[in-house]
Amino acid sequence: MTAVDQLGRSLGDLRLSVTDRCNMRCTYCMPREIFGRDYQFLSRQQMLSYEEITRVVKAFVQLGTRKVRITGGEPLLRRQLPQLVKMLSVIPGLEDLTLTTNGALLQQYAQALADAGLQRLTVSLDAVDTEVFAAMTDSDIAVSQVMEGIQAAEAAGLGPIKINVVVKKNVNDHLVVDLARQFHGTGHIIRFIEYMDVGATNGWQLVDVVPVAILVDRINAVMPLEPLEPNYQGEVARRWRYVDGGGEVGFIASVSQPFCTDCTRARVSADGKVYTCLFSSQGHDLRHLLRSGSSPHDLTQVIDSIWHSRKDRYSELRAAQAPSLSKVEMSYIGG
Ligand code: SAM
Ligand code: SF4
Ligand code: SF4
Repeated sequence: MTAVDQLGRSLGDLRLSVTDRCNMRCTYCMPREIFGRDYQFLSRQQMLSYEEITRVVKAFVQLGTRKVRITGGEPLLRRQLPQLVKMLSVIPGLEDLTLTTNGALLQQYAQALADAGLQRLTVSLDAVDTEVFAAMTDSDIAVSQVMEGIQAAEAAGLGPIKINVVVKKNVNDHLVVDLARQFHGTGHIIRFIEYMDVGATNGWQLVDVVPVAILVDRINAVMPLEPLEPNYQGEVARRWRYVDGGGEVGFIASVSQPFCTDCTRARVSADGKVYTCLFSSQGHDLRHLLRSGSSPHDLTQVIDSIWHSRKDRYSELRAAQAPSLSKVEMSYIGG
């Protein structure tokens, strides 16, 4: 059974948020003024249990989902995360299980995650410059701690690791070449992401976005690049490689070159709501179904009908959107 939406897009992949909490306060994602001491995060009872998450993922796989990415908030803050990885990694039909983390706790968990069946990993790292990193993440966590996490993940066999860099104009765009150089020749794949207008708290303005075409030019001028074919249809990163054999670099042009036409991605929040677009203002609750004795068949039917009604293409329509539209936060829905 394959779920298809109103624009003919299948339900190929799922981003699963396992917590809305985080040990960083990246200014573009969870600004401290909003996500401070008084912020009400989800309670344990509100969040889906690992058993409930597993039922949800099985239903998605029934509908054609082949890739699942565990995210958050910071997923490694969720207690005994390797246990969830273990439960998901044995679901028949699930081909690709991966995780996005800020890397702060990775040294501690890398081996356990690999042993539990995690296949790959993405680590977010916006700068290797100590001051810029501290300013962007608004935390005391050191760059070296993240780098040690990356090394531990590599040692645990989780490489090649993808390194995600959100680029914000006049904040870290001057460091893009340094970052590229840092991972050139390491086998890891650095990916530069245009700063997006997710949620309602980061004060996003178009002038803060550096189009990836400019980033490609900057890196190409120092370390020549050549384009690569996508790995598969719908791949969000544009792939390039260094002409000198130093590896691959990705660019995610979510603002300047939207990719809604090929978007096969659903999101489930930690409290069990399905979002059919990163920019959705409302989710569809699955938790009540999970907790009211519904069968796997019922769950699959409900998700199928949610996907079937999907028409989202926010990024393509961005220019025409009302600026006051209320959108869900990325730390809640999962990046
Ligand atoms: N805490 C984990 C991390 O940072 O990797 C996982 C969750 S985070 C929300 C997932 C990804 O979303 C990160 O790579 C982060 O940089 C990216 N992200 C968050 N806010 C963003 C924004 N406004 N624009 C572009 N990317 C953003
Ligand atoms: Fe936390 Fe990741 Fe958001 Fe940064 S991007 S605040 S690390 S959830
Ligand atoms: Fe997919 Fe929505 Fe992003 Fe378009 S805006 S690529 S539909 S998540």
